[in-house]
Amino acid sequence: MDELADVTQGAADCAPAGSAGSGACGRFAGAVEGLPDLTASPQHTEVCGRFAPTPSGRMHLGNVFSCLLAWLDARRAGGSIVLRMEDLDPATCDRQKALQLMDDLRWLGLTWDGDPWYQSERSWAYGEALEALKAQCLVYPCFCSRAELHAANAPHASDGTYIYAGTCRGLSAAEVAERSLVKRPALRMMVPELSDPAGSIEFIDGVYGPQSTVLARDCGDFLVRRSDEVYAYQLAVVVDDAAMGVNHVVRAHDLMGSSGRQRYLQHVLGLGEMEYFHVPLLVAPDGRRLAKRDFDLDLGSLRTWMRGPERLLGLLAWKVGLIERFEPVSAIELVSEFSWDKVTARRDDIVVDEALVDALRG
Ligand SMILES: [Zn+2]
Repeated sequence: MDELADVTQGAADCAPAGSAGSGACGRFAGAVEGLPDLTASPQHTEVCGRFAPTPSGRMHLGNVFSCLLAWLDARRAGGSIVLRMEDLDPATCDRQKALQLMDDLRWLGLTWDGDPWYQSERSWAYGEALEALKAQCLVYPCFCSRAELHAANAPHASDGTYIYAGTCRGLSAAEVAERSLVKRPALRMMVPELSDPAGSIEFIDGVYGPQSTVLARDCGDFLVRRSDEVYAYQLAVVVDDAAMGVNHVVRAHDLMGSSGRQRYLQHVLGLGEMEYFHVPLLVAPDGRRLAKRDFDLDLGSLRTWMRGPERLLGLLAWKVGLIERFEPVSAIELVSEFSWDKVTARRDDIVVDEALVDALRG
């Protein structure tokens, strides 16, 4: 069956695609409520973290910082860490950049366990998860153009993305079939209605404490596959974290907003939950997230004038409160200094300014 027919068929099976929880197939509520609580089981005793870089260019300081903390978290606990290349988008990622990224991680002393995973080789796994969501009538085709999405939907407060208003949720099977003739749709995951407690996601972040997201309010129905058939970040991450045995997610706090969507997907797919440790951002002096153009601090540049990674690691460790004063230090030496309590005590964003760059240069 070709993909468009598949999409149309899926919509027909689940019609009317009015609201999650009241679809014709009626499997939604049972699928959620019937799941075992995997977080309560002792299946994960060893910490397993992950590096999840996107090989679209060289690592910059922010990537180094997140990877360092993920690595310290796993190594301090005597656990393991997997390397996953988030190279889903063939337009921006390639294998050469992935090899360069691995070389940069080795230079930093940030080792990983086992062979690297490539998301570009795992479409089959995301496809299986998508089928599982379709079987629960939780996915529908969306024909909105980028311009329509931005014009019709309120911007999201925390990460700048819009909150989807559900424009295509109510399309009939006939409308879907008709539109599919002229445009290949993206696929969206239906989130529970505002009044449905299943759409209210709460968790304790290991650094920032209690978090709460109401999916219908904070993001709306979200993409699981783009119209060009590239699987969406949220779905791929959830499938991969489960497949790779990851149980600790360490990443910058601008991804906190993704955690609700990911926990919801874990829930409906019957996957175990993660522990989250969101970490401070590296920001420019004016508070913006550090961009490449600020101080030109990617590893391509840094490695041309740094003899080793020790000043860089020492500076980041000092800024996040792991060591009391700035001194050059190796990744291995930081393992015994690491604790989440120290990070939590000093969890402000880290300003990268001229003084910090001067310290880096020594
Ligand atoms: Zn739409």
